Amino acid sequence: LSSFLTFFPSSTWRNKLHMEPSTVAAVASTISTTVRRRRRKIVVIMGATGAGKSRLSIDLATRFFGNSEVINSDKMQVYGGLDITTNKITMQEQLGVPHHLLGAVDPTESVFTPSDFRKLASEVIADVKSRRGLPLVVGGSNSLIYSLVTKRYDPKSEVFNGPDPDQVSSELRYDCCFIWVDVCLPVLNQYLSKRVDEMLDSGMFEELAEFFRSGEDKRVNKSGLGQAIGVPEFETYFKAFPGVRRSAGEGSDEAYNEAVRIIKDNTCQLAKKQVSKILRLRDAGWELKRIDATEAFRAVMTADSGGGRVAEIWEKQVVEPSVKIVKHFLDE
Ligand code: ATP
Repeated sequence: LSSFLTFFPSSTWRNKLHMEPSTVAAVASTISTTVRRRRRKIVVIMGATGAGKSRLSIDLATRFFGNSEVINSDKMQVYGGLDITTNKITMQEQLGVPHHLLGAVDPTESVFTPSDFRKLASEVIADVKSRRGLPLVVGGSNSLIYSLVTKRYDPKSEVFNGPDPDQVSSELRYDCCFIWVDVCLPVLNQYLSKRVDEMLDSGMFEELAEFFRSGEDKRVNKSGLGQAIGVPEFETYFKAFPGVRRSAGEGSDEAYNEAVRIIKDNTCQLAKKQVSKILRLRDAGWELKRIDATEAFRAVMTADSGGGRVAEIWEKQVVEPSVKIVKHFLDE
């Protein structure tokens, strides 16, 4: 409003434009509403684990919306430590895009709750907004997203769990553009199994070996980082074979394979649960824009498909529609 009045300071100007005072008031009010809405605008990228949320956020931030800053909404990735096991985006993959609440919480302290997230993430959003940035909330933990964006958050409400879940509130305190990256579950499950193998190849086993060897497993909060998929599953293994590397024989291979099998199973269960929570939000009236990334994942799983084909499908079916949605949202 003030910039409008600075631009049209005198009645002379308004007369020149043949504007009635009531028109001036209406225009000023529209501008002020637009400015207020812009201040509340955030983009939320949600989806099951492994669906490509981080990759999409980096694509949007580096190529289309250069003022973006990512706020992590994965409840295991907020803790420091176990970077491979919790599948945190690496510094190289971040491509210089600022990331917040990623590895920021001490895992030996009390459990990081949705209420903690509501408080910290809203402070970060205000900060990003003060820099005229675009906050991108990215992560699969729907309880965190819910706590952040609802107008009146009740920490005692059981929106996602319990035999008779509480009502989902659709009164939001931000103007949200929800992008739901979806991959049909059989395809995602196949990919998740491959991803676990890749995480193991890139050092997950060694990371967990050190975690147990150093006694870190006893220092972290059992209900916090101690719950990360990989920790409970490998506990039995490391109790039986402390410090033993894989393929040392003496039965360790069998225990190792069993731990990996359970990790894959639990990761697929996590994905399924996350999708059902997203559907719950959508059924309650949250306007989620669903982006189907299945074809890109199918291409990843096809042995003869080159990286170029995957990138092409990803671009056409995921990035392009997302850019359109975000542009439209920002122009509204
Ligand atoms: P919420 O349900 O609160 O939205 P969520 O969907 O991320 O969160 P849960 O359903 O609570 O997760 O988690 C199921 C299991 O998956 C838990 O043991 C949890 O700790 C684990 N988990 C969730 N995210 C990760 C991650 N990034 N890395 C490892 N384990 C994870």
